[in-house]
Parts: sequence; structure tokens; C-alpha cells
Amino acid sequence: AHLDRIERLNPSLNAYLLVDAEGALATAANVDAARAAGEDLPRLAGVPVAVKDIACTRGLPTTAGSRMLEHFVPPYDATIVTRLKDARMPILGKTNMDEFAMGSSTEHSAFGPTRNPWDLERIPGGSGGGSSAAVAAYLAPLAIGSDTGGSIRQPAAVTGSVGVKPTYGAVSRYGIIALASSLDQIGPCARTVADAALLHEVLAGHDPMDSTSIDAPVPPVVAAATGTRDLTGLRVGVVKEIAREGYQEGVSRCFEEALQHLRDLGAQVVEVSCPHFVHAMAAYYLIQPSEASSNLARYDAMRYGSRTTPEGSPSAEQVMAASRDAAFGDEVKRRIILGTYALSSGYYDAYYGQAQKVRTLIAGDFTAAFEQADVLVSPTTPTTAFRIGDKLDDPMAMYLNDIATIPANLAGVPGMSIPSGVADEDGLPVGFQLLAPAMEDQRLYAVGAALE
Ligand code: GLN
Repeated sequence: AHLDRIERLNPSLNAYLLVDAEGALATAANVDAARAAGEDLPRLAGVPVAVKDIACTRGLPTTAGSRMLEHFVPPYDATIVTRLKDARMPILGKTNMDEFAMGSSTEHSAFGPTRNPWDLERIPGGSGGGSSAAVAAYLAPLAIGSDTGGSIRQPAAVTGSVGVKPTYGAVSRYGIIALASSLDQIGPCARTVADAALLHEVLAGHDPMDSTSIDAPVPPVVAAATGTRDLTGLRVGVVKEIAREGYQEGVSRCFEEALQHLRDLGAQVVEVSCPHFVHAMAAYYLIQPSEASSNLARYDAMRYGSRTTPEGSPSAEQVMAASRDAAFGDEVKRRIILGTYALSSGYYDAYYGQAQKVRTLIAGDFTAAFEQADVLVSPTTPTTAFRIGDKLDDPMAMYLNDIATIPANLAGVPGMSIPSGVADEDGLPVGFQLLAPAMEDQRLYAVGAALE
């Protein structure tokens, strides 16, 4: 059924870059046979899933939305892909994304933008717009995303779906094409909080192949998502700096309604202040490009990556330069330039060093806020889905989409976006963001499920 729907709708949505019908059907047939034979099967056996094209899949092209990797076929699976296979989940295909996960609209994909199923003239969010559009349009019941500054939560918000960035280190990054290693986190995209929890438990857990992987029990997110809806005694903190100003009217109205809903369920809503959050954007857009510029240095067209050879007898450096010029898009080049600059001697202390100090202050804000509240909340995005093309020429406007999602990445804490109604003025979905202390991911699921 999903493959039929993909065939019908993917040409207009461009959610999938690659569909692996054969592989998915083979897994499904295996599961059917095992079930008929009375075998004990994992909980999600037979449930199809879409994978963002940032995760390496053995034998299946993996592009990260870039011409640079257009012909790259990984010789191994990312750990999360192995886990999906162990869970006997058919992998439907690979979903579209902004090139190397840089962006908030999927317009920076080298393979054309993905469209929002609510309105084909609008963006589905980014960088994981392929996964969010696939889930929202029933082209997949579940999908994988990666969130470096909001790329799971922001697409969920603008497509009316659920997206979770787990605690940093909770899900393995082995085999995930790196954007900014200290910020990147893999997580589930789904239509309900309970569905997200089921996928979360498949993905999470220690992996010796990832040195930042946490070696601790996975928080009980499925139990939390399917438990009591009574929130009596729960303290919900509205983060003043990212909840009150600069939001579209309908976004603010949905937010206030969600707060009322929380009070009706017995929660106590308090206001908290995280004074350094106002510097989160500035710190992120130094740290992220710095790490990205370093991670992307490996695409030299020598060991791998697409190669462009200038005429004559070019030196290795000239081949590298020509290849990177031809195969990287504008946004990727912008970040490489920014990151290389911020890391160069003489500027390091002024930019990268300062940004790291701000990062520590933001983590401190979270610690203080979580003494006053069990979960923190804000709208997920400043506006509903904007029109394709509207922000493409204005990087600053594009970056501002992540104002509410970025602090969680800088501090490593988990975050979730759940649907929270539609804005009156445009009828488009609005997201509600929940944040919890590190390794307390189950709190997001308990509160998210209660609000559903
Ligand atoms: N939009 C943010 C950026 O462009 C976040 C991207 C992400 O989370 N991968 O960096």
C-alpha cells in the first residue's frame, strides 16, 4: 500500500530520492513467512520505514542531498540501519534533504525541493523535509531524521507530524554522514507520539562504534507514551526568551491553547528565563559551520566524492578545488567559508572560542530552568510553512527558523515537536516544542502523549 502511494504521490512531493521496492517487499515477505511459521517477531516487524538519505545503507546509494555523493554506494550500514533490519522493518527508500543537512526548507537539496503535502507551494521544513513529507502524506508510517539544529523538529512542526531529537549520544551516529559532530542526533519521525516512541526504542542504545554513544539504559519512552494522561503536579516551564515574541499570530494562539490544555490536565505552568538563549543562534552559526567545514574536508575527490578534472595537467590541489567547486551547492560553500574563517588562527579565540563559552552558558541556563520545571516548552517554529523560494536568497531569514530549536542541540538535551492545531490565518499546522533534561527523554513522551 505504501509503495503504491509513493508511486502515485512522490512525483509531486519529491519526498523520496530513492525507492527500494524490491528490498522492502522482500523484507515484508520474510516477515509474513516468519509469522506464518509462528516465529517470535520484534514489535515493529513488517512496519515499513523511510530513511533520511544521510544514513549509509549498504548497496543503496546515499547522497546526503549532494552532487558530491551522487554516485556513492556505501559498503556498510549505519548502526541505525542495522537496527531497523534487526527489527525486521522494511526500508521503503531514502528521503530528500537539504545538502549535507544544511537548511530549513529542503530547498538546498541538489535534487530539487520536497513539497509540503498541506500545500505544494510551501516548504516541508528542513533539513529533513523528505522524511516529514513522507510521514505526513502517508508515504511511510515512520521515518528517520537527523537533528543538528532542528532538522527533525522543525519539519515535524510545519507538516503536522511528530519529531523527536533524543538526548545527544542516545542514538548511534556510526554510518551517519557527519554535519556537525557535537550537535548531530538521529531520531524518529511519526504521526503519533506512541509511534515515535516505538521507533525510538528500536534506534536508541549503546554502540561501541560511536565514541559519543551513551552507555546507559534507554529511557522507557514507550511506557511513558502509553501511560497515564494525568499531569497533576507536573511543572511546565515556558521559556520567556523563545516563547513570547516574534511569532506569527496563529502560532502564538495555538501555543496559548496548548498551555491551557496542560493546565486542564493538572500541570502547573510557570514562566522561566534562560537569558543566554538570545545568543544561541550566533553561537550555533559559528560552531556548526566550524565543525561542518572540518567534516566536509574529506570530500577531496581523491579518496571519494565526485571528481571534476580541469583541462591540461592539473595538480591534485587543482582537481580538489575544481571538484569541490562543481559538486558543492551555495549554502555548503557559504558554511565552509564561514567555518574555515572562524577556525583560522587569529580569529579562533574571538569566534569559535567565544561561541563555545556561550554554549556552556546555555547549558547552565537549562540546568537552572530544570530546577524550576520538569519540562520546558515553546512554539517549535516562528511561523507556519513558508512559500518555496521566499527565503532562499536570504540566509539570515532561513537561519531564524531554528531560533527555538537550536538551544537543545547546543546543550545536548532532548526535544520533541508535536502537532498543536492550525493557524487561523492560513490553515497550516503549528508545532509545540517540549524539552527535557538529558536522559529524561521519557518526560517528552509522557507529556506529548497526554496533549495528543
Ligand atoms: N537549519 C539548521 C541548519 O541549517 C539545522 C540543520 C539540521 O538540524 N541539520 O544548520
